Amino acid sequence: MMKEATVARRRLLQGIAAVAVIGFDPVRRSWLTEAEASRSLVRLPRLDGQLVTDAASLAAAADDFGHYIHRTPLAVLKPGSINDVVEMVRYAKQYNLRIAMRGQGHSTHGQAQVEAGIVIDSSTLASVSVNASDAVVGPGATWRQITAATIPRGLTPPTLPNYIDITIGGNIAGGGIGGASHRHGAVVDNVLELEVVTGHGHLRKCSATQNAALFNAVLGGLGQFGIVVRARIKLVPAKQLARLYILQYPDVGSFLDDARALALDERFDHLEGQINADAMGRYGTVTMFAVKYWSPGPAPVDATLLRGLDHVAQEIQDIPYAAFVARLDPIIEFAKTVGAWALPHPWFDIFLPASTTETFVEETLATVTAEDTGNGNLILYPLRRSKFKRPFLRVPQQDEVFFLYDILGFAPPIPEVVNYWVARNTGWLDRGRDLGGKRYNIGSANLTRQDWRKYFSPLWPAVLLAKLAYDPMNILTPGQGIFPWGRPVDCDD
Ligand SMILES: Cc1cc2nc3c(=O)[nH]c(=O)nc-3n(C[C@H](O)[C@H](O)[C@H](O)COP(=O)(O)OP(=O)(O)OC[C@H]3O[C@@H](n4cnc5c(N)ncnc54)[C@H](O)[C@@H]3O)c2cc1C
Repeated sequence: MMKEATVARRRLLQGIAAVAVIGFDPVRRSWLTEAEASRSLVRLPRLDGQLVTDAASLAAAADDFGHYIHRTPLAVLKPGSINDVVEMVRYAKQYNLRIAMRGQGHSTHGQAQVEAGIVIDSSTLASVSVNASDAVVGPGATWRQITAATIPRGLTPPTLPNYIDITIGGNIAGGGIGGASHRHGAVVDNVLELEVVTGHGHLRKCSATQNAALFNAVLGGLGQFGIVVRARIKLVPAKQLARLYILQYPDVGSFLDDARALALDERFDHLEGQINADAMGRYGTVTMFAVKYWSPGPAPVDATLLRGLDHVAQEIQDIPYAAFVARLDPIIEFAKTVGAWALPHPWFDIFLPASTTETFVEETLATVTAEDTGNGNLILYPLRRSKFKRPFLRVPQQDEVFFLYDILGFAPPIPEVVNYWVARNTGWLDRGRDLGGKRYNIGSANLTRQDWRKYFSPLWPAVLLAKLAYDPMNILTPGQGIFPWGRPVDCDD
């Protein structure tokens, strides 16, 4: 079925050169260039940017960081303005085309892809304007672009993801977690105001006090209720330096105990653990990165910060704050050089309550070695439930502290192996759910409708109501797989 659709689509697109299209043929369901305009066409609205159908643009939009799902869109919009997004969503709604915005495509399971629909490339909407305590940013702005504008002015977003080449739009859809999230919550907890294009093609401003229902739905709403076209995000004063305490733990349990206590007492600005493999490839020891930001003047007091901790070895380093923000650059450069960046990445990500994290982590470590993950990274962030306030970013409710556990592997480019990893992730999610966990929706797993109901539980009725209010024709962001049924949403869903 999928193959037939792909072949038919290729035929439709044959002969369309790498030039902008001018309209849509609703009968043949294909785009038309000027040369083909004699066919009956529905002209595109006037666009400030371009709608393109060239092979390179379609191939880029049909890929993501997972590199194993490829859904080819009919066209890619490179918007020249917010109005272009409004016009194309209206157009998509009129001709029953599905549509999604793509940030940098760093999700791993096709979340930003649209089979036979329209992908909006947000990179052309990436402006950053810095004010005294906030910044107004375009949806395609990456954290690298945002921090390049804020840090020289002595300001920073309170929560930054580890990797800064992902976009604010992608993080608003998914949540956005970083080492400071135990203090400041997710990226979505630090958004002050949004401009959103709903599935009706309406441009709406929303915040905690204006259109609050839309605001709450879109933050962590996985692109289901609107396309974010502008965001006003909180900024806080940035310190000049980051003091890194690199602490070694002999096992996961001792790390979790200290991480839990540190998340609660907030003595550090950033907390993160990485599970290490020994010479035999067995994961077990943990390195904690506990970070204190400071500016020249009174320095952090090491003895006070490390008091009561159970680590067995330590190293202390000072680096400029901007270098800390970009700390993954050399590792990513290396991964690109050795080809690991281009491998399939069926990544696994789950939030777990503190009381069940050790059980779950030990169960996974009993079945996975460094060889199995392609020397992947296993990461644990301690987080606080009371700091996560957005209803649709679902997190464990049973303990105040919970952990994000990521298994970030590099798979061989063999479909059977990738399928096995995705199936294994799906099984782990089931097990994690039994332990009170919630999926972090940036990675790879096959979720059924029932799984999504459980994920949003007890808010599934609210999700349905929001979908009916803001995207009843069900055209937005199909790649998340929440409403995959290609028809309008109704109350029975
Ligand atoms: C190396 C690496 C490190 C990472 N580190 C972190 C980390 O530390 N913390 C963390 O939280 N995540 C991390 N991630 C995951 C990242 O947050 C997700 O991949 C996320 O999807 C953002 O990536 P993106 O901006 O490329 O969005 P995409 O993958 O392009 O999009 C993700 C989803 O958001 C939707 N979307 C994008 N823009 C908009 C918009 N403007 N409006 C509505 N919907 C939109 C898309 O349609 C899609 O469904 C990492 C990923 C990689 C590859």
